[in-house]
Amino acid sequence: MGLKTKEEYIESIRALKPTAFMFGERLTNVVDNPRIRAGIEATAATYEMALKPENRDLFTTISPLINEPVCRFTLPPSSIEDLVARVKINRKMANYVGTCHQRCTGLDCLSTLAIVTYDIDKKYGTKYNANYIEFLKHMQKNDLAANAGVTDVKGDRSLAPNEQVDKDMFLHVVEKTDKGIVVRGAKAHQTGSLSAHEIIVLPTRAMGKADKDYAIAFAIPSDTKGLIHVVGRSTLDKRELEGCDIGNVFYSKYCPTLIFDNVFVPWERVFMCGETEFAVEMVIRFSSFHRQSHGGCKSGRIDCMIGTALTLMDYNGTTKMSHLRQKVIDMIHRAETLYGCCLASSYEGYKEPSGTYFIDTVLANASKIHEGKELAEASRLMIDACGGFVADLPSDKDFENPEIGSLLKKYLKGVDGIPVENRVKMYRLAEKLAMESADSISDIHGGGSPEAHRVTIFRETNLEDKKKAAKRLAGIDK
Ligand SMILES: Cc1cc2nc3c(=O)[nH]c(=O)nc-3n(C[C@H](O)[C@H](O)[C@H](O)COP(=O)(O)OP(=O)(O)OC[C@H]3O[C@@H](n4cnc5c(N)ncnc54)[C@H](O)[C@@H]3O)c2cc1C
Repeated sequence: MGLKTKEEYIESIRALKPTAFMFGERLTNVVDNPRIRAGIEATAATYEMALKPENRDLFTTISPLINEPVCRFTLPPSSIEDLVARVKINRKMANYVGTCHQRCTGLDCLSTLAIVTYDIDKKYGTKYNANYIEFLKHMQKNDLAANAGVTDVKGDRSLAPNEQVDKDMFLHVVEKTDKGIVVRGAKAHQTGSLSAHEIIVLPTRAMGKADKDYAIAFAIPSDTKGLIHVVGRSTLDKRELEGCDIGNVFYSKYCPTLIFDNVFVPWERVFMCGETEFAVEMVIRFSSFHRQSHGGCKSGRIDCMIGTALTLMDYNGTTKMSHLRQKVIDMIHRAETLYGCCLASSYEGYKEPSGTYFIDTVLANASKIHEGKELAEASRLMIDACGGFVADLPSDKDFENPEIGSLLKKYLKGVDGIPVENRVKMYRLAEKLAMESADSISDIHGGGSPEAHRVTIFRETNLEDKKKAAKRLAGIDK
């Protein structure tokens, strides 16, 4: 098949027939629904960018598995160069779409499975890695997009999966046959599940022996029978449906809840089934990879905020105000420290027994803690530099109204020579960047809750080495 064009990708998504609901109604055509389409366009942009001559060297490479050019979103890292490319691509993509492109999570799952299926097979003599390799070939040959089905709905957070009153609070096996398994449960916050060809499922937490039925990993097409996508609301979603006051006029993001209503998974698509002690390894690998992806992406998102602030400063005549320059500098250093931390986690990466490269976990998690706070701060600085119309700009419909439109255009002008329409569009973009609930400040939980990052840092850091250094300096032998 080879690399898909943007158009081929959209048509391949159109060929799928998922069960999807939004605002209480069944969606029969997801691709032409304006809200979902804006999300699909963001993923389509990864296909478009990969084929641009100036990006080809960064976005594509020869897969050692199929010996053909592939997009890096289907390539588990097998070198430091591959790890570095992940960060650079995510920054470039976020800069281009100004929102979540939704394709990194699939790669993070593929990279995790490359390491962990190998480790499980080594211990138990299972054939999960062979299943995974066949699946990876399918992803690469057809240049597919995948979603990460990781976060279970979890019920009572203080209870393990097997202890829940309702046993379906974590996705689990309800039946095993010689052909495959049947699973039931639900995964929440499934970014871009309708933009994806495949749903890759991994466990969401560590599991004990009694959680055997819950320790599962597999992949299924996003239109598999029994799979139900329920698109979640986000702050500006109705505007996308109305086609008015959109802000980012090309791209958006949506996150469905995904219900697995007795879904059949053939054995050849199963990558873990019952090996409970490996659930934690899946979680650590996936979350570290994903926190690194986040950092590349969100530094690109801050780039968009910087561009928006600078343009509105030009439009408002505030470009030379020194305190606003300082605020732009504060935004730039936040984007660059985030980016630097993610790059560092790549450069400090290392080879696993499977041959796949893994990143430095502490640096990847440190970048996510930084992001959780600093993305919000960058947003605050952007709003400060732009002004109050980020909050309460009149609607496009008011600007078009014959009675008040010309008055609004007169009074909302900034510096002479800049069309008022441009100023209005830029404010709308600032609002979208600040308020898009599924991808801005509320994305604090994306990639795991902040406490999860802190716990990982503490667990993975070599604390004894630090104590040893301090004791030596103090002249303490033991
Ligand atoms: C915009 C966005 C996109 C996302 N995209 C995806 C995706 O594509 N795929 C996917 O699988 N997931 C996705 N997620 C889910 C994300 O990983 C979760 O939101 C995150 O792991 C937190 O889980 P939760 O939302 O269930 O919150 P909770 O787990 O309920 O956390 C709420 C708070 O309670 C604390 N808490 C919960 N349980 C415990 C406990 N046992 N001990 C101590 N403290 C606890 C947490 O630390 C946190 O502070 C996305 C989330 C967001 C917001």
